[in-house]
Amino acid sequence: MNIIRIKKYFPIFTTHKNLVYLDNAATTHKPQCVIDALTAHYAERNANIHRGIYRLSEQATESYDTARAQIARFIGARDASQIIFVRNTTEAINLVAHSYLRHHAKAGDEILLTVMEHHSNIVPWQLAAKEKKLTIRYAHITKTGELDMADLKKKITPRTRLIAVTHASNVLGTINDIAAITRLARARNIPVLVDGAQAVAHMPVNVSALGCDFYAFSGHKMYAPTGIGALYVSKKYLTTMDPFLGGGDMIRSVSLEGATFQDAPERFEAGTPAIEAAVAFGVAADYLTRIGMKNIRTHEKKLTALALKELSKIPGITIYGPTRAEKRTGVISFTSQNIHPHDLASLLDEQDIAIRAGNHCAMPLHTLLGIPATARMSFSLYTSPADIRTACRALRTIVKKLQ
Ligand code: PMP
Repeated sequence: MNIIRIKKYFPIFTTHKNLVYLDNAATTHKPQCVIDALTAHYAERNANIHRGIYRLSEQATESYDTARAQIARFIGARDASQIIFVRNTTEAINLVAHSYLRHHAKAGDEILLTVMEHHSNIVPWQLAAKEKKLTIRYAHITKTGELDMADLKKKITPRTRLIAVTHASNVLGTINDIAAITRLARARNIPVLVDGAQAVAHMPVNVSALGCDFYAFSGHKMYAPTGIGALYVSKKYLTTMDPFLGGGDMIRSVSLEGATFQDAPERFEAGTPAIEAAVAFGVAADYLTRIGMKNIRTHEKKLTALALKELSKIPGITIYGPTRAEKRTGVISFTSQNIHPHDLASLLDEQDIAIRAGNHCAMPLHTLLGIPATARMSFSLYTSPADIRTACRALRTIVKKLQ
């Protein structure tokens, strides 16, 4: 991968010449092809979809359907109808809580999560649990920040109605063995939801090989616009789920007494969607495929190994999560003795280095780690070894000065 050439393809780095952007877990920047897709859609094909009896509307519909097929191909879904367009990972998970869990769980049933989940893979289940009187169980992590598979296995019971787990932690970087979890679940007929927000843009993902029933992800973390994301649903559950939001486009017929509904995916896509964002999402997926997800994973693994090495040389720095790059994505959370993560982030910002500080929407995990906040660096395909060296050099100077 030619990082210099790739970086030139992301206009933000021309506008902000000295920017060292290490907050890719929050959102990624957009390549020229994605920006062009948005402009081209509005300039050439803008109309509402599905309803038009005129060519422009048919073209807009065709673009939207093409995007669905591109996303299906990108994650190895067998059929484009298994992809539901949503706003983001959060909405995808809420959709499953609403359309699947609320209608299939009874009082006393259980949902199995892990302690490393992002709030968007905790709170929707807590809301459903409160309403339906369900119990939430949490699988623990080991001392090295990996999922404790023995604990997870122990917490599966005859009342477990769903296992919801992140593919990769947005704090620890830990990559979870989803195939192993789905093997356990399948034997007991339990569906598995995977939060793919931190995985899809960083490693090859094939939902058919993973064997999961739901896979949720956001476009904006994989070089596409905000306001678009996707939920993959296995055929087994696609036909048994109830509608999510009610309104136009998701119905077959409506009378004053009631309504009948479309099949998936339209059944779950009420109202006018983010058409141009979906189109650009498909373009982003094809762009990643052209670069090659294996190449991206190899590149980011090297960056992670370098960052782990450089960070561990700085006195007083504690790194959280697995110590080996093979076990994690390019997300590294750390703390520095006596210096608050927010101070580290704002001092780095003075040098045009963007990192994130806080609890990263994973308060339960931070509580468990016994810290209120961490500083976090996260990488992407346009991150260079030089970016990491620059950030670590700056960090070392700040730590030296303040400690
Ligand atoms: N899950 C994980 C693991 C995440 O990192 C994030 C984003 N920080 C989300 C879910 C939520 O993504 P979004 O805000 O795009 O819905």
